[in-house]
Amino acid sequence: MEIKTLSFSVKTKGNTDIIDITNNVSDLVSSSGLNEGSVLIFVPGSTAGITTVEYEPGLLKDIPEFFEKLIPSKKIYHHDETWHDGNGYSHVRASLQGASFTVPFQNTKLLLGTWQQIILIDFDNRSRNRTINVQIMGK
Ligand code: ZN
Repeated sequence: MEIKTLSFSVKTKGNTDIIDITNNVSDLVSSSGLNEGSVLIFVPGSTAGITTVEYEPGLLKDIPEFFEKLIPSKKIYHHDETWHDGNGYSHVRASLQGASFTVPFQNTKLLLGTWQQIILIDFDNRSRNRTINVQIMGK
């Protein structure tokens, strides 16, 4: 088995911006020289998350609405008393979401469903330039 640790960068608008990173990941896997294994996708930072969704316009509204209902952006958070950066809700959302996702691959192709994309959600309250770490394990 081999391990390859790679990365790519994406610009986000923040404010629960949802970005399809499926092609970024599948390009790294298909050029890795590995045929079969699994790929771990991890976002460093405490205000973003990685998961999967059907990347279509309705869900791109439903997901931010869900997070707004569950973890409102207008509420005062203790974190804001600590740093006064106004993004307490961003941290709580990111903790709930989780910072990584793993996908198996075979014959250099990700074993995703047809309507299943890998997404980065940037919960921060400003635009960010995110580096995504990708660790490919396989043979
Ligand atoms: Zn903060």
